[in-house]
Amino acid sequence: MKAYELDAMRRAIAISAQGLGSTSPNPPVGCVVLGRDGRVVGEGYHVRKGESHAEVNALEAAGGRAVGGTAVVTLEPCNHYGRTPPCREALIDAGVARVLIAVLDPTSRGEGGAALLRAAGVEVEQGVLADEALLVLGPWLASLTRGRPFVTWVYGAGEGERRSPVSDEVRRLRQSYDVVIRASGKVEEGNPGRHGDGVFRVPRLSPGASGDEVLKVLDGAGVRSVLVEGASAGSSLAALADRVICYLPPTPSGVPYAPPRHPPVALPAGFRLTDVSRDAEYVRLVGEREV
Ligand SMILES: [Zn+2]
Repeated sequence: MKAYELDAMRRAIAISAQGLGSTSPNPPVGCVVLGRDGRVVGEGYHVRKGESHAEVNALEAAGGRAVGGTAVVTLEPCNHYGRTPPCREALIDAGVARVLIAVLDPTSRGEGGAALLRAAGVEVEQGVLADEALLVLGPWLASLTRGRPFVTWVYGAGEGERRSPVSDEVRRLRQSYDVVIRASGKVEEGNPGRHGDGVFRVPRLSPGASGDEVLKVLDGAGVRSVLVEGASAGSSLAALADRVICYLPPTPSGVPYAPPRHPPVALPAGFRLTDVSRDAEYVRLVGEREV
């Protein structure tokens, strides 16, 4: 693998994130096309469900310069006829000689785009920077394997105040998620669009529904990721969280010990710490559910 090919994959991963919150039930994918000499000649990502895929957008940008070149794509190119012909066909027609793939599509079961590209004489490498690509594709992939949307739960210090670390975090993250369940219980689109023309019609959820039931209804509507705000926002949903972001209130140091007066004191059991940082007087913890 050449250094500039890894650079191209990291660029593909970076631009793929622009599709977070608007491509579901499709995955957010990015693609960079390198010409025969290794220079970038095109790039694209899947912008919104129902619109063309990352590979098609990148090939369109590259035009004839893709011939003999390399397509660098974060997910295995699709092999099905939907609104558009399959991307593996578009890659072959464009004359691409080589395809680098980060993550294989688990739904392809070995008969997907990668196999057919190889059969057509295209050189294919898979698993390229897969761990890094999963930073964007992880929730989509997890929702496929679990058969329900990926859930991130944000809670902790200052909840209930008009401005709190929790509400700021939700404001920052909401565009990356399909649906947000607010502390008030209100269900909103994460990415409502400029004119309120969101991607989903968020289904009506019955107030007494369990977390499992809520996720099942959302899954049926094509939702792949859910952001849950606040400790009180349906504790049954929080119990199903795949990722938690938790704000700890300040505590004294070097004085006689007394139990902290305000929860939370740490991540819930069953979560592995993946990030710790400081935000003003709060400590921000991120955890992933241990599997
Ligand atoms: Zn495709």
